[in-house]
Amino acid sequence: MPPDPSQHPPSQHPPAPPHLPRRANYYESGPLDRMTHLRADIETLLETIADGAARIVPVWQAQNLVSRSNSADAPPDPVMLRGDHPILPQAEHLVFLGMVEETAHFAADFSHLSAPPLEEAGEFRDLRAFGQIIPHGTGSILAYARGLMHWHRRHLFCGVCGSPTVSDRAGHVRRCTNPDCGAQHFPRTDPAVIMLVHDGADRVILGRQLNWPPGMHSVLAGFVEPGESMEDAVAREVFEEVGARVKNVRYHSSQPWPFPASLMIGFTAEAEVGPITLDETEIESARWYSRDEVLASPEDLTFRLPRKDSIARRLLEDWLGDAAADLKPQSPNLPFPKPKVL
Ligand SMILES: [Zn+2]
Repeated sequence: MPPDPSQHPPSQHPPAPPHLPRRANYYESGPLDRMTHLRADIETLLETIADGAARIVPVWQAQNLVSRSNSADAPPDPVMLRGDHPILPQAEHLVFLGMVEETAHFAADFSHLSAPPLEEAGEFRDLRAFGQIIPHGTGSILAYARGLMHWHRRHLFCGVCGSPTVSDRAGHVRRCTNPDCGAQHFPRTDPAVIMLVHDGADRVILGRQLNWPPGMHSVLAGFVEPGESMEDAVAREVFEEVGARVKNVRYHSSQPWPFPASLMIGFTAEAEVGPITLDETEIESARWYSRDEVLASPEDLTFRLPRKDSIARRLLEDWLGDAAADLKPQSPNLPFPKPKVL
């Protein structure tokens, strides 16, 4: 008997083509449907706030509100507010994020307050401190809220004429208030390439930037410049940072990285093993490592691999293949939980 299509509605996220990786990176592909067509209907959106049905993701100075946790290792729960929470009129920016099933979600920014609000509800923390131990879906919403608020706070004035801007389209445009200008400014994300450079066999280049936490080693990365393709940027950055010429540049996957405003575009690339010439203004150290050396990472202040929520880690784990199972396990890909609502 043929399957009944009405019992199997089409997925919003069709399977990736076979040549692409299927495992989602952290902070992407969350449960939100952005429903961009609703952004023009601000009246209806505000009604969902007034009747309390909406959920609000509070942001304060680039941090997200989570429950207080007794242990640094215990995943905190995100805390959201009802649409009619009394603090909402104090929000400096309010942005429609999208719908989770039937519930409208917004982000509200309280960064202008000198002290963190809502202390009775939890604490504001940097997503980087706990993103890798919370479920992916939760992380993607918190990252989205944080990234949009970062953009709003840095675009209060028009980059064309210097006049104040106001929020439009439910927080997805800032419009210049000078009638002679009227420029519209859209949320921006800065493309950066990140590339695992391997020798086609057993070795990979890992390095350290000068400002990284002690011991952390990772693959190479850099921002795409105007007039460059991503492949151009991969070749330029690798040559600048370690003096190697690459070939066989292959796209891997991408990741929103709102720390503060990047889209990381992951590649693998091949280079011949040879001497490393460091760009000492950016790179503290870099060299070729074997798989065994990577797998034996002591994960301490002398040598540790990139954060588990980063695409750098993902590139490395995919290069290690089945052997990556010998690394410390990643946090499980848990379903989206019901957040605490106040
Ligand atoms: Zn202007």
